[in-house]
Amino acid sequence: MKINDISQPENYLPNNDRYSKMIYRRCGNSGLLLSALSFGLWHNFGENADFTNARTLLRTSFDLGITHFDLANNYGPPYGSAETTLGKVLKKDFATYRDELIISSKAGYDMWAGPYGNFGSRKYLIASLNQSLKRMGLDYVDIFYHHRPDEETPLEETMDALYQIVRSGKALYVGISNYPAERTAKAYDILKDKGIRLLIHQPRYNMIDRWSEAALLPTLKEKGMGSIAFSPLAQGILTDRYLTKIPEDSRVAADGRYLNKTQVEQEIEKVRLLRSIAGRRGQSVAQLAIAWLLKDDNLTSVLIGASKAEQIKENVAALDNLSFTTSELEEINSICFS
Ligand code: NDP
Repeated sequence: MKINDISQPENYLPNNDRYSKMIYRRCGNSGLLLSALSFGLWHNFGENADFTNARTLLRTSFDLGITHFDLANNYGPPYGSAETTLGKVLKKDFATYRDELIISSKAGYDMWAGPYGNFGSRKYLIASLNQSLKRMGLDYVDIFYHHRPDEETPLEETMDALYQIVRSGKALYVGISNYPAERTAKAYDILKDKGIRLLIHQPRYNMIDRWSEAALLPTLKEKGMGSIAFSPLAQGILTDRYLTKIPEDSRVAADGRYLNKTQVEQEIEKVRLLRSIAGRRGQSVAQLAIAWLLKDDNLTSVLIGASKAEQIKENVAALDNLSFTTSELEEINSICFS
């Protein structure tokens, strides 16, 4: 990582006004409030990222009232390095603000070699969380997730690991990500029987990816679980970023593993049409996409990523207009399902 942080004040003093504009929503039936926008460190926090920029992204988020930073064991590259970067910024800038932050991490995908660095065993989850805490320099995370369902490991074992993690004090709450509805309900029931709340589910959800609407979101509501939508901008497709070209500094150009040109080309006509609705509302496409997710109480929070501080500012300003007319919603659906 390029250590180049002389251009910003070394001593960080957060914006005193940071809690005045952000909306905080209750995470299901729990006592925990999450900021309506949360910030994820999947991209732009690895060893290939600029440390000054990474630090600015976190400062900007916090200054705007974003209290929740989301990580996973293998965010980087290389794996683990986003947690290491967060640990450095926590120490430099947020040491006295730990109790104002909700920090999450996850395990479930490929992390280290051999049979114990992947999937959903008790061995993997507990060892991985111990590593994550060391990298971030923390005693505990606020939320620890099982990152994906694992059909090969008994659900009871995975949930027992989450139970033990809460009881050990290494996480205050636990959640799951990418689980389908039925497995989510079972996981919730197993932990409920043990006296622990399965706090939250983290699904992919945005205007053009609605897989979670049919069964998962109703299940979360029924169980009183919270929900936080990842990739709300479809990794940047639902913005102005790709309207005319693939910019050199974009995710597609920088790392085509998760988002490529073909995916952008398949959706870009929808973005052009959505842009005219956004314009009528006085919003950008990104703001429209975020406002649409937050329009009702289906979701606790929207988990954005960013490569530039300006993007975070633009995205938080989506909160200025969260209401939609019926005809706007119909028009959005007809564009997104075309
Ligand atoms: P988004 O859909 O918000 O995409 C973020 C990207 O969109 C940015 O990096 C940037 O791309 C672009 N962007 C953001 N705001 C703007 C704007 N206003 N104008 C133009 N472009 C913009 O989310 P991510 O896909 O990054 O996911 C967010 C978080 O969700 C992750 O960091 C992670 O914490 C979590 N996640 C969880 C997963 C899971 O399995 N549980 C899987 C994936 C993500 P560019 O870099 O091109 O500027």
